[in-house]
Amino acid sequence: MKKQYDDNNVFAKILRKEIPCKKVYENEYALSFEDINPQAPVHVLVIPKGKYLSLADFSENASDIEIVGLIKAVGETSKKLGLNADGYRILSNAGTDANQEVPHLHFHIFGGRNLGSML
Ligand code: 5GP
Repeated sequence: MKKQYDDNNVFAKILRKEIPCKKVYENEYALSFEDINPQAPVHVLVIPKGKYLSLADFSENASDIEIVGLIKAVGETSKKLGLNADGYRILSNAGTDANQEVPHLHFHIFGGRNLGSML
C-alpha cells in the first residue's frame, strides 16, 4: 500500500506559510529556500508545491508541467546562487535507507566549496 502524504510535515507547513523560510526562488510549481541546518557554505532545498513523498511518487504521479516546473526551479536556483561557475551537487534522499527526514520530495543543492567525493 502506498504511504500517505503527511500534511503536517515541515515542508507542507512552509508551503502554507505556517512557518517561515529564507526563500531563494519560486515559480508556480516549486519553491526553493535555505536549509535550516546547512551542511555546506551553500545548502538550499528545492521542493515541488504539490504533495509528493519522494522522486518515485513524483515521477509516477506528477503532471508534466509540475515536473518541468520543479526541474526549472532547480536550474534557476543554482543560477541565482551563483553556483554554475564552480559547480554544485544535487542530492535527494528517498526512504529509510537514505534516512529521508522530511516526507515531502526535496532536492538538496550543496555548493560554495569543493564537496569531496560522493559519499
Ligand atoms: P532529508 O534528510 O529529509 O533529505 O533532509 C531534510 C532537510 O530539511 C534537512 O537538511 C534539514 O536540515 C532540513 N529542515 C528540517 N526542518 C527544516 C525547517 O523547518 N526549515 C528548513 N529551512 N529546513 C529544514
